[in-house]
Amino acid sequence: MIKATNLVKTFGKVKALDDVSVEIKKGEIVCLIGPSGSGKSTLLRAIKGLEEVEQGEIYIDGEKFDKKNIKQQNKMGFVFQHFNLFPHLTVLENLTLSPIEVLKMSKADAEVLAKDLLIKVGLEDKIQAYPNQLSGGQKQRVAIARSLAMNPEFMLFDEPTSALDPEMVCEVLKVMQDLAEQGMSMIVVTHEMGFAKKLSSRILFLEEGKIVEESSPTTFFENPKTDRAKEFLEKIT
Ligand code: ADP
Ligand code: MG
Repeated sequence: MIKATNLVKTFGKVKALDDVSVEIKKGEIVCLIGPSGSGKSTLLRAIKGLEEVEQGEIYIDGEKFDKKNIKQQNKMGFVFQHFNLFPHLTVLENLTLSPIEVLKMSKADAEVLAKDLLIKVGLEDKIQAYPNQLSGGQKQRVAIARSLAMNPEFMLFDEPTSALDPEMVCEVLKVMQDLAEQGMSMIVVTHEMGFAKKLSSRILFLEEGKIVEESSPTTFFENPKTDRAKEFLEKIT
């Protein structure tokens, strides 16, 4: 379980997180939805320790999260909007680097694992390619496979399909849907309302650094509790 309590983060005069508390249990798929600038990325990044907070605590499986604790770090995979693959490494090397360096896996074992994961995301034929030889959708699928290679308990996605051309969105959502159906716990910042509606266990709606609504997907999309969520949904549909 991931638990964040009373997170506060400011950038100058902007309160990116204004006393945010969340809990994500094993097996849940929680979607973070909200207008641009509402604090979704900051919340996700704070949970992973990529953003220092001024106040608040994070707990992973009941233990206080220390971002230097590799074991805790490895429990959370993070997928960025812009993939963040290592450009000078092949797909195979992108996938095996951390398992070898951090998990101290043998090269042979790491390569077997990488191949299995590439089959899972449908990219076994790209194993020797470099990132710049891949489409955006393929890069993102490699990035997901790379995260999975560390055997995380939670996968955190920050708008994984926002940087993709429309025809590539589906292939990435398909990989995420497979993961969801296999029971992976996920926190997903997304504007893909179809995904959120179909797969999320819960929706958190953020505005101005606060969670202003927490609803089931059915409630959120059919009968949102807050006017703010209603207005947001009207704007985007
Ligand atoms: P979202 O992901 O919902 O679009 P963010 O979490 O990225 O929102 O940002 C929340 C607020 O914090 C915004 O007003 C944004 O401009 C500000 N912000 C985020 N990161 C930084 C940063 N590194 N420096 C300055 N302001 C930032
Ligand atoms: Mg963002």
